[in-house]
Amino acid sequence: MTKPYALDLAEADWKAWLGEEGEPSYAYDQLVRWVFQESLFDPEGFSNLSKRLRGKLWEAFSWVLPEIDTRLDSVDGSEKFLLKTGDGLFSEMVLMPSENRVTLCVSSQIGCRMGCTFCQTGKLGFKRNMTRGEILAQLILANQRLKAKGDSRRVSNVVFMGMGEPLDNFDEVVAACKVMIDPKGFSLPKHRVTVSTSGLVPEIKRLGQEVPVRLAISLHSPDDERRSRLMPVNRKYPLSVLKEALLEYPASPRHGITFEYVMINGENDTLWHAKQLVKFLHGLKAKVNLIPMNHFPGSPLRSAEQEQIDAFQKYLSDRSIPAPVRYSRGQDVSAACGQLAAKRKDELDMDPRVLRRQRKLSVVTS
Ligand code: SF4
Repeated sequence: MTKPYALDLAEADWKAWLGEEGEPSYAYDQLVRWVFQESLFDPEGFSNLSKRLRGKLWEAFSWVLPEIDTRLDSVDGSEKFLLKTGDGLFSEMVLMPSENRVTLCVSSQIGCRMGCTFCQTGKLGFKRNMTRGEILAQLILANQRLKAKGDSRRVSNVVFMGMGEPLDNFDEVVAACKVMIDPKGFSLPKHRVTVSTSGLVPEIKRLGQEVPVRLAISLHSPDDERRSRLMPVNRKYPLSVLKEALLEYPASPRHGITFEYVMINGENDTLWHAKQLVKFLHGLKAKVNLIPMNHFPGSPLRSAEQEQIDAFQKYLSDRSIPAPVRYSRGQDVSAACGQLAAKRKDELDMDPRVLRRQRKLSVVTS
């Protein structure tokens, strides 16, 4: 029988197990301190726990972090990790240290079923949801990596913008967010955890009730016809329905809601679109991240021209909507927004659909 994964257990599960084993409940605090604060994922090293308890922890649970299959270092200092799960699948995380923060972009699913046309992950198809433990393991790996590099900091910001639609894996993502902001967990300020969604309306409503993290919306078009073409989710939850949910979302008055807007040549980059976008945002405290599209092999879509991006940004700024242009980090190693497709170095130029076929074959033949 496979052992439960230690990171999949919630506080109540740990306390129940410790009680059954006749161990004191304060052992929970000691244990999670090692795991989440010290990034030590090996009971052997939990030196303030009795030898007997350490032995039992080994016996009862699985303590394996995902294998780092490949690490790709970008010239801008960000690092993309291709992670191999216990069942031989691949996901990715991107570590982006900068002067005043260390941001980690995490994955929540292996692949994605939302099918956005500008996204490599979408082209890979969907394999499965990640567990809360697999999501949290990414933070431990990232903190271990920082330590190994001699960087005394820990991950300070988490964004759910890696592979997958986080709200399509609602329970596991919410459980992971709770550990991220728990003072006994990773102890991150709640405004430093951002869940980014393509617009699953019922789950947006539930998220606001369950965990007080920041919300980001992958918007990319302010008109229904075009958005439905770029993002099939819009056929089910058109902009008017999305807007209603956003007006009700309990966003912090200081931070509001962030909108991601990938700028695609000829698709969504004219002043007409900027005007529609301003109309859509009316009544919301909003910030718009303008992201020049990162082209990927096999896609006919290209980034908007610089002139269009500048004009678009000015239109929003003139109407008091902050609209920074985000030049994605890690472009040279395909770690940028919409480029995560679980690729090794020699696969970076490969069409994601070809990669998917190859991986299927290698699974069949291996
Ligand atoms: S943009 Fe996000 S939701 Fe859309 S296919 Fe890519 S990973 Fe999925």
